[in-house]
Amino acid sequence: MTTSPSIQIRAVGLTDKGQGRERNEDAYLVDDARGLFLVADGMGGRKGGGVASQAVVKHLPDLLNDRLRHGPARRTLALRDAVFDLNATIRKVGEQGSGLRGMGTTLACILIHGRTAYVANMGDSRIYRWRDGLTCLTQDHSLTALLLREGEISARSAACHPARGQLTRYVGMEQDIYPDVRSERIRPGDRFLLCTDGLWNVLPDSTIARLLGAGTEPASVCSSLVEAAKAAESQDNITCVVVACGTTESRSRIRRPSVYSATEGMR
Ligand code: CA
Repeated sequence: MTTSPSIQIRAVGLTDKGQGRERNEDAYLVDDARGLFLVADGMGGRKGGGVASQAVVKHLPDLLNDRLRHGPARRTLALRDAVFDLNATIRKVGEQGSGLRGMGTTLACILIHGRTAYVANMGDSRIYRWRDGLTCLTQDHSLTALLLREGEISARSAACHPARGQLTRYVGMEQDIYPDVRSERIRPGDRFLLCTDGLWNVLPDSTIARLLGAGTEPASVCSSLVEAAKAAESQDNITCVVVACGTTESRSRIRRPSVYSATEGMR
């Protein structure tokens, strides 16, 4: 738990291998001290996916620190440039490891400072905000999302389209590329959900809204969301981070970052 002058943040992450996968290639980070929260959904090769998503958790905090050192007042740019740097870093990790070439990962992250949430994404992991209703703050970088936006396919056919899952932007891709970045003023009571497609693919917005807006503790919201995705027969890895923004002036103890990685489990 951490405090800013008037916003208290409570955040919890949870991941589940799901029923249809041998490995969990998702990863997440809950770092209260930095105000940094992320989910990553790795892909590529026998072991590349898990390595890529773990490398995001390992490298993004330091890359962000480096960028913030040079321009702490310009967090939108710092986050954008840190993810740009991350793309090259993940590519390098892939080139150096055996069987890792071509690996990649999605990224959905929030950096919270004061009353502002800085949001960045690459790929099709999503960030939702609950505030008297559900809003998706990210746009998927996938072929089906592109076809949907262009009016080429319907939402119904997108769900079972053969190109489903093909990403137009991700971390680790060959091109030097920036993420989408935006900043949002936080209001007390806001709740953010970061999740991989193993969750949002099987849960309708109405279910996500009901569970995220229920007002219960973030840990309980995470459990409810993951259980709902399993009950909806998600065949993918399922990962979510819930960030609840409250209003207390009291100071509280900063926890160690909570990190999940497929090879090391919770640490
Ligand atoms: Ca996935």
